[in-house]
Amino acid sequence: MNKECEIVQDLLFGYQDGTLHAASKELVEKHLKKCEECRRIFSEMKKDEIEVDKKEEQEQEIDYLKKVNKKMSRKNSLLMVIGTILGIIILLNVGIFVYYYNEAGKVQIYLNDDITQEQMDDIKNTILKIDENAKFEYYSKEDALNKLKKTFGDNKDLLSGYSEDNNPLNAYYVVDTNVEKAKDIKNMITSLQGIKKITGLYDTNPYIFTFSKFIM
Ligand SMILES: [Zn+2]
Repeated sequence: MNKECEIVQDLLFGYQDGTLHAASKELVEKHLKKCEECRRIFSEMKKDEIEVDKKEEQEQEIDYLKKVNKKMSRKNSLLMVIGTILGIIILLNVGIFVYYYNEAGKVQIYLNDDITQEQMDDIKNTILKIDENAKFEYYSKEDALNKLKKTFGDNKDLLSGYSEDNNPLNAYYVVDTNVEKAKDIKNMITSLQGIKKITGLYDTNPYIFTFSKFIM
């Protein structure tokens, strides 16, 4: 490498940046025209610069994408939380109504002590006309008293004096149907003979019904 090449190569950075005085600039340009080696070095420098620029650009792009991703994932997790909450609310509501529809569809029919077999059949047949799948459970006066004793086993004051001979409770049917049919059944059998009272929970609010069953 001759002396001029050395000088020119030292000046190449300044030449590239455009910071050389006019005389130095002219020297470099003249030399580059005739010296292949220095031209090659200069073109390598330009390539390097382009590559550095490219790298910086790519890094900026990556940074930007990272930021966007972060924002998106924050948005996504928020959406997932909202979706999960909505899902739970919907499922809870469906659950409550299904539970209410089935469980609140029970009708208790308290029977008069002097009810006849014919009247009992009449009640049953009327109900079966409304819901042929209705299930009947019959509790006699004794069953009702035993149930009470089971529930309030220790409460002697409440139960004292009650016996099979002195039983103030009524025999009853529990009819298992659904909420809609329970209402129809009540309406249809109200006028029949032998019934003391008809009760059911088919008119309660589904939420109150369900929560009272599970929480209380
Ligand atoms: Zn040279």
